[in-house]
Amino acid sequence: MTGSTETCPGCGAVLDAEEGPTHRYMTSSAACWRRFGDLLAAEYSIEALMPTHRLSVDTYAVQHPGNGSRQAIQSVGLHLARLMIHLGSPKPPKEMNNVMLRLGTRKATLHLLERPERFAMTIADVAPFVGTERHAEMVLAWAQCSWDDWSEHHGYIRDWVDAA
Ligand SMILES: [Zn+2]
Repeated sequence: MTGSTETCPGCGAVLDAEEGPTHRYMTSSAACWRRFGDLLAAEYSIEALMPTHRLSVDTYAVQHPGNGSRQAIQSVGLHLARLMIHLGSPKPPKEMNNVMLRLGTRKATLHLLERPERFAMTIADVAPFVGTERHAEMVLAWAQCSWDDWSEHHGYIRDWVDAA
């Protein structure tokens, strides 16, 4: 099956089809998941990319909202909340951890949110820049686009965070 492409059921990235592992509840194509792995590997190996790393994890999670299980619902809600805070009012890592711990205690109250129909940017747009000097800039654009794609639920997430 060389030369065939596959659309990721999460983010919609169209990539050359490949065999491989995927995440347990963040439903994706194997090709998409592998590129996310490559991106994480670059971030782990370049110290300056650690702040970018948190954005990458949140962004990938909200683009792969998964199977509707309780765990998937909570994952999407928490990652949307963290993405909102990172993009809107960034906090030092320690303070951010405390905020996330507090939010985590209320994750059972999160509702299933209808996912956006499509995402303006996917990992396919970021992959060519992984490990280059434009890595952080591309991830930031990917993160901002993804947050905007979820705009229908911004009010819900903001209220949920404020209630904590
Ligand atoms: Zn994907």
